[in-house]
Amino acid sequence: MQQRIEELEKLTIKKYPEVKQLPEVERKRILITGGAGFVGSHLVDRLMADGHEVTVVDNFFTGRKRNVEHWIGHQNFEMINHDVVNPLMIEVDQIYHLACPASPPHYMYNPIKTIKTSSIGTLNMLGLARRVKARLLLASTSEVYGDPEEHPQNEEYWGHVNPIGPRACYDEGKRVAETMCYAYAKQENVEVRVARIFNTFGPRMHMNDGRVVSNFIIQSLKGEPITVYGSGKQSRSFQYVSDLVAGLIALMNSDISSPVNLGNPEEHTIMEFAQIIKDKIGADNEIINVDAAQDDPQRRKPDITKAKTLLHWEPVVPLSDGLGKTIDYFREEVKLLQNKN
Ligand code: NAD
Ligand code: UDP
Ligand code: UDP
Repeated sequence: MQQRIEELEKLTIKKYPEVKQLPEVERKRILITGGAGFVGSHLVDRLMADGHEVTVVDNFFTGRKRNVEHWIGHQNFEMINHDVVNPLMIEVDQIYHLACPASPPHYMYNPIKTIKTSSIGTLNMLGLARRVKARLLLASTSEVYGDPEEHPQNEEYWGHVNPIGPRACYDEGKRVAETMCYAYAKQENVEVRVARIFNTFGPRMHMNDGRVVSNFIIQSLKGEPITVYGSGKQSRSFQYVSDLVAGLIALMNSDISSPVNLGNPEEHTIMEFAQIIKDKIGADNEIINVDAAQDDPQRRKPDITKAKTLLHWEPVVPLSDGLGKTIDYFREEVKLLQNKN
């Protein structure tokens, strides 16, 4: 009988990842908007493991319950299905504001909604921060620098953005989100932090995300041609998601209210990147050049002097290690998909 009870308990009691026991005074109530997305869900994992109370607000446009399902039911965790374009009334100490589609195909799918999310959504989160006296960190982007005329990009650079191009809904949306943060800081004394995030990759990127890392990995795993947009001479610098999460938490808990670049300065052309991924997987698929994307920034590399000096932060995960973990993740995803069909 006792054995049967234990067996039943095993079936019904959910095992959660380990969580630190924080004294009440150190435990914060933290809101993560976009917490069911790629970056957000990794941030959830770190803050939960550190012992905080975490509330995720997400409308599941590009995020998935699956990314945070291992926390569902935990006493420190709550998930709210909510669109940040609508006002939100909760009580929290810190807000990581990540809600916004991040991949070009997703943010271009409904540009008006993307603009509303960045503008009205950020306004609402700042209004919330003001009311409850919470500190707000905005997940801004290297896209505020547009197609940069300065290289590498430091935080002083004002950017070079086409305000009416196909990327504008995202770039200008984030630029106005930054503007609103500093207006609320100045006028209403809201404590703001602004992270300018450069290209980030890792497990839990959406299969149909459309960004270069997931595309090239999936194409190589399936033996399909790798699609390089344009010449492939354009460059990017990629950081692994755990490095970004460490940077976001360091910035949130610092006293730096001006924008800070968070990225890995190791720069590669997209053509080099196609070859690196192909070699890492050991695939023999071909690399083809297809039409260039409109307004595609030609060079991108963060100057991270500010983060290094003021936050004592810098990326530590080598590209090859991060790619290894991401490839393992997508290998499982591709298998799952094939089993379904
Ligand atoms: P993602 O698409 O995986 O996550 C975004 C999340 O926000 C999703 O869970 C989505 O469902 C949610 N969301 C979108 N619109 C919403 C709305 N109106 N209301 C509530 N939830 C909404 O993208 P990600 O890569 O995790 O990016 C997270 C944040 O980081 C974004 O703000 C993005 O702009 C920023 N960022 C990411 C990168 C990167 O390389 N991943 C680079 C620069 C900036
Ligand atoms: N807001 C919110 N949650 C709150 C407080 C405000 O979503 O807890 C929204 C509010 O609905 C408004 C926005 O944030 O749309 C800006 O609020 P603020 O109080 O700064 O300005 P006002 O309401 O006076 O326009
Ligand atoms: N890119 C590519 N093939 C793809 C997807 C993207 O060549 O299948 C290129 C894209 O044109 C850009 C770079 O890779 O130059 C990074 O694109 P991504 O969409 O990942 O991010 P972003 O342009 O926002 O930096």
